[in-house]
Amino acid sequence: MVDSLADRLAGVQTAIADAVREANRSPDDITTVVVTKFHPASLVRELSQLGVRDFGESRHQEAAPKIAELADLDARWHFIGQLQSKKARAVREYVDVVHSLDRESLVAEGPPVDVFIQVNLTEDPDRGGVSPSAIESLAELVMAEGSLNLLGLMAVAPLASQPRREFERVRLLSESLQRIAPAASALSMGMSGDFRDAILEGATHLRIGTAITGNRPSPN
Ligand SMILES: *Cc1c(COP(=O)(O)O)cnc(C)c1O
Repeated sequence: MVDSLADRLAGVQTAIADAVREANRSPDDITTVVVTKFHPASLVRELSQLGVRDFGESRHQEAAPKIAELADLDARWHFIGQLQSKKARAVREYVDVVHSLDRESLVAEGPPVDVFIQVNLTEDPDRGGVSPSAIESLAELVMAEGSLNLLGLMAVAPLASQPRREFERVRLLSESLQRIAPAASALSMGMSGDFRDAILEGATHLRIGTAITGNRPSPN
């Protein structure tokens, strides 16, 4: 196959570097999280050998055994999926960063973890994320819980939207959040199809799956 994992990774890294230059930003400001959900541990190992260090997973029942199997890797694990309150504590045992904090019930004592508050940019409450108007009250609770380190905001651009507009909106929400949480300036946004727009609007954490891994096997 012409299009190997290494080729796809290199292609995405080049496109990221181009966007970073276009945005007049520093490459050091961007963390690329490679989303490996539904893929076997062997693919994570290959990516690690290619120099990837940050990996994203979205389901506890899949992530827990996979991450345990890969305990020998020099890796940072990011939880990006909807989080059930019952599973939140277990997830904190094995991830470094939770991108999907979106409810008061997830704010609890536990192992120290970096968190993003996820913002729902749609009108559909079943989508993950808090409504923009609820960001600040949740942020106050997070900051009062010593084991949680608030990094910033996370969002997914809605389907059939203009991602650049959506990411601009998240950047503006972040600017107002920073008035009460000056350190919470990180922005987790940008996926396979829209990472250039996200970089242009200030993304610090990209979550990129298929553009690097190829199509995902169906979940089991
Ligand atoms: C699956 C997933 C991604 C990666 O999506 P791709 O389109 O494969 O890059 C990013 N963020 C979240 C929240 C996801 O669930």
